[in-house]
Amino acid sequence: MTKAVEIGGLKIGGGNPVRVESMLKIPLSDKEKCYEQCAYLAKLGCELVRAAFPSVTLTEDLAWLAKNSPIPLMADIHFDASLAVAALEAGVPSIRINPGNMARGIADVVACARERRAVIRIGANSGSLNSAQLKRAGGVRSDALAAAAEEQLKILLDQGFDDVILSAKSTSAPETVRANSLLALKYPDLPFHIGITESGFGRDGLIKSASGLALLLAQGIGDTIRISLSEAPEEEVRAGYSLLKALELRHRGGALISCPTCGRKRIDVMGLAALVSPHLEDLPDGMTVAVMGCEVNGPGEARDADFGIAGSRGGAVIFRKGRVLREVPLERAAEFLLQAAQEDF
Ligand code: SF4
Repeated sequence: MTKAVEIGGLKIGGGNPVRVESMLKIPLSDKEKCYEQCAYLAKLGCELVRAAFPSVTLTEDLAWLAKNSPIPLMADIHFDASLAVAALEAGVPSIRINPGNMARGIADVVACARERRAVIRIGANSGSLNSAQLKRAGGVRSDALAAAAEEQLKILLDQGFDDVILSAKSTSAPETVRANSLLALKYPDLPFHIGITESGFGRDGLIKSASGLALLLAQGIGDTIRISLSEAPEEEVRAGYSLLKALELRHRGGALISCPTCGRKRIDVMGLAALVSPHLEDLPDGMTVAVMGCEVNGPGEARDADFGIAGSRGGAVIFRKGRVLREVPLERAAEFLLQAAQEDF
């Protein structure tokens, strides 16, 4: 059980559900577009959104977005303590910094965060490790990453500030897992943000992120997640929920069971699964539906599904918890399945 922190009304850690976050992929100068992106992400279930804040000239845009965004913002700041102070003064409820990069101004940042009850996320990243840090860790990158995060953390703890979220990210899943596992052993009370940084694109990026995060979440490590992909931010949010659904940590919308098919299949499972998939988001949370190739094994193999369809001699059968209800025409099988799932849960 980690300590709970609160960002703009959103509770993170302390037994709250694992939060799903993303990052704006357009500059703050285009504040209307940023707002639209925030609103769309919020609709998909994104709970916290990070925004790059690289220049003080963007302070007014940041303040406007912090005021209008339907989900809390986290300003992402590198090196410049005065920018961190400007973000907090602009009303942003959380910032992501590397305190070690702001040594001279960090006291001001902490004072400002304390006064505004803002949360500071410490973001150590494998890309920023220097040769001295690597040498101290005996060349073991994951250990160097954990030590770098700890160094940053201590700067804040030494100032008596502990409204923090700890984060140590690498582009390597095993490195991220090991670094976070080490940190969680030392700081079991702190909330963690976890992610595999710059995870990549498409299937490889998803699997890299999911494998690393699943190993951590299965150990109880991770209070907020980001699936960092070279794709639209909504894909990060959808992937975040897919992962949490797969691990049965959170449910948002429905889930699909569908068979890989074999020589017994009587229907186009791939086509039907593709028809049903986009509608899962609209199903009640926790609902499971199934698309199975044959009525001989389908209903039994998918007896965990609330509703399912399976190919039959005359078209498809619709079943509930493994029990066949009736036969339906094949061309309307997906429609009947979704209707049953929406109306009777
Ligand atoms: S449900 Fe039927 S078609 Fe699908 S894999 Fe099982 S036996 Fe094969």
